[in-house]
Amino acid sequence: MTTQHFSALASATARAMAAVRTEHCPAPDFRPAAPVRSTMHCTKCQGVLKFNVSADGRTSGRCSSAGCITWRDL
Ligand SMILES: [Zn+2]
Repeated sequence: MTTQHFSALASATARAMAAVRTEHCPAPDFRPAAPVRSTMHCTKCQGVLKFNVSADGRTSGRCSSAGCITWRDL
């Protein structure tokens, strides 16, 4: 059950990252015209997920719910 829960969180994180990249990192440059700092509906809990996109196209995000989605591009 733990593995299944982890997988659900991982896929929700992947969906959130993909949504941010699709909206803010269009081809061919895959980076925004200016750094982005915004929020979206969390893909796992539908809460508030804050995200950032840097000028070089790296994304990071964190859901406001404890133990939910968080990621940071290196
Ligand atoms: Zn969440």
